[in-house]
Amino acid sequence: MTLVHNWHLGRTMEYPYFESRPEHQFAAVFNINRCIACQTCTMAHKSTWTYSKGQEYMWWNNVETKPYGGYPQHWDQKILQMLWDNGNNPMEWFTSPEEKNETTAPYGLYNGDTIFELAKTKGLNQVAVGYIPDDKEWRFPNIYEDTAASEKTNYEMGSGADKESSELPEHKRWFFYLQRVCNHCTYPACLAACPRKAIYKRKEDGIVLIDQKRCRGYRKCVEQCPYKKPMYRGETRMSEKCIACYPRIEGKDPVTKGRRMEARCMAACVGKIRMNGLLTGDYKKPDPKNPLDWLIHIHRVALPLYPQFGTEPNIYYIPPRWAPRSYLRQMFGPGVDEALDKYAAPSRTLMAVLALFRATQTVISRFEVEEGPKIYESEVMGKKVEVYNDTAIGFAADGTELVRIKIEEPTWESDEKRMVTY
Ligand code: SF4
Ligand code: SF4
Repeated sequence: MTLVHNWHLGRTMEYPYFESRPEHQFAAVFNINRCIACQTCTMAHKSTWTYSKGQEYMWWNNVETKPYGGYPQHWDQKILQMLWDNGNNPMEWFTSPEEKNETTAPYGLYNGDTIFELAKTKGLNQVAVGYIPDDKEWRFPNIYEDTAASEKTNYEMGSGADKESSELPEHKRWFFYLQRVCNHCTYPACLAACPRKAIYKRKEDGIVLIDQKRCRGYRKCVEQCPYKKPMYRGETRMSEKCIACYPRIEGKDPVTKGRRMEARCMAACVGKIRMNGLLTGDYKKPDPKNPLDWLIHIHRVALPLYPQFGTEPNIYYIPPRWAPRSYLRQMFGPGVDEALDKYAAPSRTLMAVLALFRATQTVISRFEVEEGPKIYESEVMGKKVEVYNDTAIGFAADGTELVRIKIEEPTWESDEKRMVTY
């Protein structure tokens, strides 16, 4: 084991390999507030990569309903329980200003065990704690869809659950959709666990891949990835996982004429919740004009999923506004309150960057904002919100302007002769 810095945790941690960050890092931001659970992303993935024999239950992209849903079933509760029952200082964060640092510890200091540290605490002969889900747990990729949590009994007549408040800042009855793909982690547990060294992280874009020639199907990756994103294929007796649609990221798809293109699940998103691209490799020097660097490192409105696991995942989430804060802090760490404050009363730059989500399927490497007139003013949760009709402009890595979007969407009225009445 060596010591590596994990900026999600605000500290160094043990990992079997030396810290070696890629030149750029494949990443995405998912805005949970916008997801409609249409599963278009899931089907875009399925019809591209996992439609063959032996892949029937393989969903590299899935969208589950929290708090009860999960694919495989209960994947996160099981890992959290392990950390909770056996870890040192489980889920403990220190968040005083002295514990924080703008770049190396933006959320404070995590004082609990990661999945790697817990394996050592327990004296296990493996790099991380984990488990292999049984077949039953993989059967229903969307179990408990739209099932709400409530302080009151859901099904009991006269329990009053139907009258519970659904008002901000926290709904009493709530659920939200969690979109999940492989996180192409900076410290992948799958890679660390593989006894065949069949899993590698690409230097140029940080994409994590399984070499099918080396894999022997031992399933250590399935066991030790805390997000349960490598999946075993009995047909070939090998494990498979999301490949980040790497030919598209490399610009091999003719549609974008050699420019980097977002992954299939990202580009297909109907709710416009996803933005996919590359982070600057050096997290200490984020580029303020790169939309992902800005959302994650500079504005800190997008947060990692279960940072306490310790893998430094690279898919980031804008948390849902209405869910209980304690639940969200467990899921996204202590950055939740700052992120939601910023999202509820968005700045001009945040409005502009959000307007660029799904405006093009070419990766946006740089953005600019052209200022326009003020068009609206209001108050949200006691905070003044002003909306300006600015123009968000997205550029490709080669400087080509890809898209221009105004904050105020144009509307057209249909003329009367086209109005059909019955
Ligand atoms: S999410 Fe799991 S499969 Fe993906 S890189 Fe991280 S540890 Fe590996
Ligand atoms: S396509 Fe987008 S909106 Fe639809 S389920 Fe997937 S992430 Fe949500």
